[in-house]
Amino acid sequence: MSRVYNFSAGPAMLPEDVLSTAREEMLDWQGSGMSVMEMSHRGKEFMSIATKAESDLRRLMAIPDNYKVLFLQGGASSQFAMIPMNLATTKKQVDYFNTGAWSKKAIAEAKRYCDVNVVWNGEQGNFSATPEAGDFQLNADAAYVHYTPNETIGGVEFPYIPDCGDVPLVADMSSTILSRPLDVSRFGLIYAGAQKNIGPAGLTLVIIREDLITDSLDYTPSMFKYSIHADNDSMYNTPPTYAMYLAGLVFASLLEKGGLEAMAETNQRKAEKLYATIDNSSFYQNPVEIRSRSWMNVPFTLADSELDSVFLQQAAERGLMTLKGHRSVGGMRASIYNAMPEQGVDALIDFMQAFASEHA
Ligand SMILES: *Cc1c(COP(=O)(O)O)cnc(C)c1O
Repeated sequence: MSRVYNFSAGPAMLPEDVLSTAREEMLDWQGSGMSVMEMSHRGKEFMSIATKAESDLRRLMAIPDNYKVLFLQGGASSQFAMIPMNLATTKKQVDYFNTGAWSKKAIAEAKRYCDVNVVWNGEQGNFSATPEAGDFQLNADAAYVHYTPNETIGGVEFPYIPDCGDVPLVADMSSTILSRPLDVSRFGLIYAGAQKNIGPAGLTLVIIREDLITDSLDYTPSMFKYSIHADNDSMYNTPPTYAMYLAGLVFASLLEKGGLEAMAETNQRKAEKLYATIDNSSFYQNPVEIRSRSWMNVPFTLADSELDSVFLQQAAERGLMTLKGHRSVGGMRASIYNAMPEQGVDALIDFMQAFASEHA
């Protein structure tokens, strides 16, 4: 067996120790005689898996007691609708930052349910920056403020958490959650599709402050109500059991590896050396302003885009896969989430340097 370094933006690499445990437990989970996939979600075996996944996540992220953790489905994309349907009920005005492709999708969906005020728009600047703290004016009467801390496609990351006073802050953390320690108490709601830094696709994580779990808009489907999922401990219907199990293995693995402090240290080092390689070469370029560069998604272009396909082909020959940039940006993108080993980044850097000197 040989595993490649997969730089995909998502679904992305999973820690190898997690995959090995899943393989060992595949046919017979801890003497139960069945696979986790075959278990009743209400049986005591699966309940213990779900309980441990939640408590490990709470420990990992230091989630305060007045927050609910929900294991949902429908991807981060469903949250684009679920958030306004549940949080913009009495107040109809909401504030959104537009820092890239995912912000735009969240805004388009929210507009169907409430009055969206775009407080800062990075589109004119080709989504290569985030606002300075003084560059925007928030509405003190908004139901919530929404932002995308890390834009997966543009590789743009907020270097700080916006201060919204008493207005709840809502964050699409799909591509940055678990990459470093986070002060959860600054947020009203955090959500993330699992397939980047948590586990397999099919699971969506929501961390919501309890006082925000209230009435929804009248026509909200039951499956789109936070209250229903919170009242039923994420077991209103059959949850994505196997994805929850794998996410639980990831949480346990991260705790064992030193938690989010340790992740932050490695992630920062991985990102800094990759950006240094780009900056120290006239062959590669990254379009993002330095203070807003993502630790997780690193887009870059080659001096001559005619070389893109040769670059991708030679990279693949070395086991460096899925480096093609998003179609809207072009060039390359290296996604270097928690599960990308530092050796993978080193191998990419070696290849980039060799390629540049051959083609400069
Ligand atoms: C991947 C991604 C999404 C979409 O997630 P789905 O689970 O596919 O709906 C939304 N927001 C961000 C920031 C992402 O990276």
